[in-house]
Amino acid sequence: MQLEMNETVPPVVRFAPSPNGRLHLGHAYSALFTQQVARDLKARLLLRIEDIDLARCQQRFVDGIYDDLGWIGLHWEKPVRRQSEHFAVYEDALSTLKRLGVVYPCFATRKEIAEAVAGDLEHPRDPDGAPLYPGISRDLACDEITALLESDVPHAWRLDVERAWNIAGAELSFVELGSGPRGETGELEVIPQVWGDVVIARKDIKTSYHLSVVVDDALQGVSHVTRGQDLFYATYIHRLLQKLLSLPVPYYFHHPLVRDDAQRKLSKSAGDQSLAALRSAGVSAVEVRRMLGFV
Ligand code: GLU
Repeated sequence: MQLEMNETVPPVVRFAPSPNGRLHLGHAYSALFTQQVARDLKARLLLRIEDIDLARCQQRFVDGIYDDLGWIGLHWEKPVRRQSEHFAVYEDALSTLKRLGVVYPCFATRKEIAEAVAGDLEHPRDPDGAPLYPGISRDLACDEITALLESDVPHAWRLDVERAWNIAGAELSFVELGSGPRGETGELEVIPQVWGDVVIARKDIKTSYHLSVVVDDALQGVSHVTRGQDLFYATYIHRLLQKLLSLPVPYYFHHPLVRDDAQRKLSKSAGDQSLAALRSAGVSAVEVRRMLGFV
């Protein structure tokens, strides 16, 4: 696809891992893919540490990211943006969404939500397979909400997706230069309703992956978002947030995921072999690049 490029401003790409474990081959593929796109577009390459989850992210994994990426031959600009240093920026964006009336506080606990959908096999699910938020605590009276907020009852903020869609004027699209899991490519319309009323600010940290990623991509001038197809449908929410927050819209370049022999996507939690483990087993960085199709 022919890209319309602003000749004076170099494109910007980023690799944005979360330091909640050591990187594995799937991350290496994503990082090398980003490097390849940067070379093709003569783009600046940024690294962003997505460490909003203070309970799961650890400094030793941040150090591991620098180490592993340096080992496979990635070069990135410094300083590196760490999301945990910018919570105030995400709160500002949340305030804008509150002013627009497109988010509402959700006081429901995980248990209450699970109970509300338990046994309902027909209950709709999001693209990740999780049941859509069933709407409990959604239509509380104004004075009830005020009282709960004033007494500091823990709450998340959820996107009222229908209201947001109406305010955004519907019919939003983005350009996919790679492909989604079902081969989606080209200019694509978004359907954020598939996620239901997603959490935009978590109970514990007052932001979310969706909000921080959209704010940071805009702040860092990212022109091309490169990432795995597991995040393709999240773009529906990102595009809606960009519209509500008046942010520029990057091109998207989703790539297929590295899978194991059983066709399972690699994951840190499943203990898939890390780059560090491969390295100490004597595998070279050149072999890793070759294994993943980058020479
Ligand atoms: N931090 C996300 C992850 O590690 C990637 C975010 C993105 O590329 O949009 O899966």
